[in-house]
Amino acid sequence: MKLATEAYVDGSWVPGTRRFAVYDPFDNAMIAEVTAGDAALADTAIEAAARAFPAWRAKPAPERGKLLGALAAKMLGEVDRLALLCTRENGKALSESVAEVKYAASFLTWFAAEAERAYGEAIPSSYSDQRLLVQREPVGPCALITPWNFPYAMLTRKLGAALAAGCTAVAKPAELTPLSALALAQLADEVGIPRGVINIVPTDHASEVGDRFVASPVIRKLSFTGSTAVGRSLLRACADDLKRVSLELGGNAPFVVLADADLDKAVAGAMIAKFRNAGQSCVAANRFIIEAPIAKVFANKLVEQVSQLTPGRGSDPGVDLGPVIDDRAVAKLIKLIDDAVEQGARIIHGASPDGRSRLISPVVLDGITSDMAIWREEIFGPVVALRTAKNESDALAQANDTEYGLVSYIYATDAARLTRFIDGLETGMVGVNEGLVSTAQAPFGGIKHSGFGREGSRHGLDDYTALKYVATRL
Ligand code: ADP
Repeated sequence: MKLATEAYVDGSWVPGTRRFAVYDPFDNAMIAEVTAGDAALADTAIEAAARAFPAWRAKPAPERGKLLGALAAKMLGEVDRLALLCTRENGKALSESVAEVKYAASFLTWFAAEAERAYGEAIPSSYSDQRLLVQREPVGPCALITPWNFPYAMLTRKLGAALAAGCTAVAKPAELTPLSALALAQLADEVGIPRGVINIVPTDHASEVGDRFVASPVIRKLSFTGSTAVGRSLLRACADDLKRVSLELGGNAPFVVLADADLDKAVAGAMIAKFRNAGQSCVAANRFIIEAPIAKVFANKLVEQVSQLTPGRGSDPGVDLGPVIDDRAVAKLIKLIDDAVEQGARIIHGASPDGRSRLISPVVLDGITSDMAIWREEIFGPVVALRTAKNESDALAQANDTEYGLVSYIYATDAARLTRFIDGLETGMVGVNEGLVSTAQAPFGGIKHSGFGREGSRHGLDDYTALKYVATRL
């Protein structure tokens, strides 16, 4: 299938007045030049979503679900092509791109079925001649803004819920990875999702398009996944119009291993939680907090596993660690590592990157303290930061010592300890002896500066629906 490089608006491929280049993060080779959406194109997309809304919301939910199911099937039928495209523009190992396409399709499958289960309520009234009913209605056309780290899944997680609820959408993929979103639009077009229901506006001028989305009174909801700084400013911008907002923002996940943990399981979980997508995930383990008696053994076992990782071009066989996304990411990693070392951390595996390549060999740092930037900031790379905790309560205090609250990982075997720990964690999600929590049937989302709203699960439709309560006197 031809690579889609135009904007997808109102069921048509629309060339803009300007284009921008998309590069392979591994070698900086140009992959394609893509239409650069501007304010005018954003407006056209918004109008298309508004026009398509009445018919889409009126379509019986099972029929909306059927179209979502068809789109999921189409994705699964083209896993290899879609995965390769993702690896090209994002850099991740091909096996991870394959997993991402399947994960992305799973949201469409999940919400295809949820569409049919958007139940209302009948409430017992205080009067015999009165009926109280609650029905769920779609909020209206929605704006979806997604990041580059999971170009398919971050989009389908929102689109699946929006479309199932009966909303239409204008979406802006990240400027670094617009091709996956456009490939998805091609498939949506093929399966017959009506024109205007999905509109994709790629751009390298994110705020120009984003500003139109949030300023438009037609758009009733914004769902954003990305940095806390941008999320906060979009939230402010949505205030005047009182738009519904869901924000899935940064994380600073603690990965706690208590002394009674099964260490082999903890190391296996750590490898997934840290190195998936080369560490570029908002649920990536950011701060390893290890109870003192096992700190050394855990570090040794982890280094043993880490040294077996193979960095390289994502599409090459045997590679399990692709490049980081861009030069800014490399510079940030160097800064975090150097700052930690200057303040007394030790590199126990690897070396600070030389800055000449985006391919970062894993680094393991020990002796992290709360004064270091690496303790406060999202690392977003294959760098492990280890800190020792004196005991359980010290570990919990360290785990909660962050403004974020997306996910926390805890490894232990004692049930009472685990229960205390789970209850004490300030977080939206917990992995208990589990390094990967993301799945379509569970509610994904955070608290504190990690944002609000839940994606996936039976709660996922809530953000896209409004309750209409009807009191009827007979
Ligand atoms: P990241 O650090 O993951 O790149 P960003 O928050 O910068 O996080 O980007 C996430 C998404 O937000 C991307 O699609 C990006 O283009 C978009 N974005 C960035 N700045 C703005 C803005 N001012 N308005 C709207 N969208 C924006």
